[in-house]
Amino acid sequence: MFLADRQPSLSRKITLGYYAIALLIVGAAALPFFELLSLETKVSLGERTSELLETTLEIRRFERNYFLHRQPADYDENRRHVALARAFLDNNRTDLAAIESPATLSRFRELLDVYERNMAGYAAIATRAGRLALAETRVRSAGKDIVAIAAEMATAEKTVVRTSLAAFREVLVAVIAGLAVLILIMSRAISRRIVGPLKTMENSVEAVSGGKMGLLQAPTADREIVSITEAFNHMLRELELRQKHLVRSEKLASMGTMLSGVAHELNNPLSNISTSCQILLEEWETADAATRNTLLAQIDEQCERARNIVRSLLDFARPGSFRRERVPLRPLFAQTLRFVRGEVPARVEVSFAVADDIAVAGDAQRLQQAFLNLIKNAVQALPGEGRVVITAVAARISGEAARNRPPFEGCHVEGDVVDVRIADNGPGIAADVLPRIFDPFFTTKDVGRGMGLGLFITHEIIEEHDGCMAVTTGAGIGTTFHVRLPAASTLAQAVPTGQPR
Ligand code: ADP
Repeated sequence: MFLADRQPSLSRKITLGYYAIALLIVGAAALPFFELLSLETKVSLGERTSELLETTLEIRRFERNYFLHRQPADYDENRRHVALARAFLDNNRTDLAAIESPATLSRFRELLDVYERNMAGYAAIATRAGRLALAETRVRSAGKDIVAIAAEMATAEKTVVRTSLAAFREVLVAVIAGLAVLILIMSRAISRRIVGPLKTMENSVEAVSGGKMGLLQAPTADREIVSITEAFNHMLRELELRQKHLVRSEKLASMGTMLSGVAHELNNPLSNISTSCQILLEEWETADAATRNTLLAQIDEQCERARNIVRSLLDFARPGSFRRERVPLRPLFAQTLRFVRGEVPARVEVSFAVADDIAVAGDAQRLQQAFLNLIKNAVQALPGEGRVVITAVAARISGEAARNRPPFEGCHVEGDVVDVRIADNGPGIAADVLPRIFDPFFTTKDVGRGMGLGLFITHEIIEEHDGCMAVTTGAGIGTTFHVRLPAASTLAQAVPTGQPR
């Protein structure tokens, strides 16, 4: 449990990626958020500064009215507005420090006091015309200065808000650009760490299915990738095992054929031996030594013949690994035909024309199984009568044109080869059946007659020998299976005789 928790895994990487992106977004959004908060404060201060300007203008309006009409109500209003302006200054000293120097703010505060005093002075002497003009001038001068400073503060505040807005815009653009770059970097990292290994796996799976690789290698130590790789490799091993079982069951079927052939074959030497023995028993007293010797030699020869037949069956049944060696084809076909003889109807003729020196590089036992399948198929395709002709010729293939000459288009084998043909004059293979004949378990034969594994396994065997297989067929011309195998002469250049591949 502890180990599994520490093992890297794709889901952990994805979760971490999500957390990182969420953190980035929250972090990036915080910057403009705080900028917006400060902007809000500035806008609110701007509104209040505008109110201050309004208040100072009101002060001047009531001042003018009072000078004109001398109504105490105007004077009261004037004083109230002065008090409002002062309160504003006292309450917002810290905020206002951002737009005005402390000296100007103090001067503003003093001017309000001066103004109030001057106004009070004016009100006190309002009945004495001579000194009135001077007091009025003093009030007006202080009033003008008050309005000027308030107007300056309002303008300064507007500039601050405008600058803050521009800064906010810049922050926003920077945040969006930064986020875009970070998300790009994150997606690259995700792609490298998650999609990359998956892509490598995809390629490896293709390589495995194309036969270029045996087992999958986990491209990373991520838990999910490792378990997929293990499951896939387990499946491959199972498939291989099953394929081996299939080959074994097909081989058993072939052995059935061979066994009946062998039983048939053994009959002749056994009856010869029996005849010779009977003659010897009957004529032992009368026969001369030369006749006895001849009969005993015949018995010995027939025993040897029987031993050879049994040995060939044992050879075929022998389980063993692939052994590549020189396999002369003439004796191989002779023996194989003996085995199938029991299954060949009387009016079917099976013949072979193979020169003595034609030999291929391969495993005699496996090749015999492949040829046995092809010969059996050819015989079974004939409706009680017909002909099966087997030929094998040596050839030298060099160059692409020669390699691709029909019927071996796409065949890779080059150099010294042997081309084997197993041709029958049967009905041929129907066009809709032809593409499927090499599929495992595909058969058109009745239950018990065919398992549908013959051609599949034959194809496997020929591929195992680095050879190629092709088929030409048609109604009226019958069917010919073509097999191209490396000649025995290639053994010296390639793998030493008898070595497994
Ligand atoms: P099986 O012989 O058990 O049916 P095979 O894989 O050997 O399995 O053959 C598959 C099918 O290919 C056969 O059922 C048959 O239809 C067809 N076939 C093979 N060889 C010949 C042939 N020489 N002539 C006609 N059809 C053939």
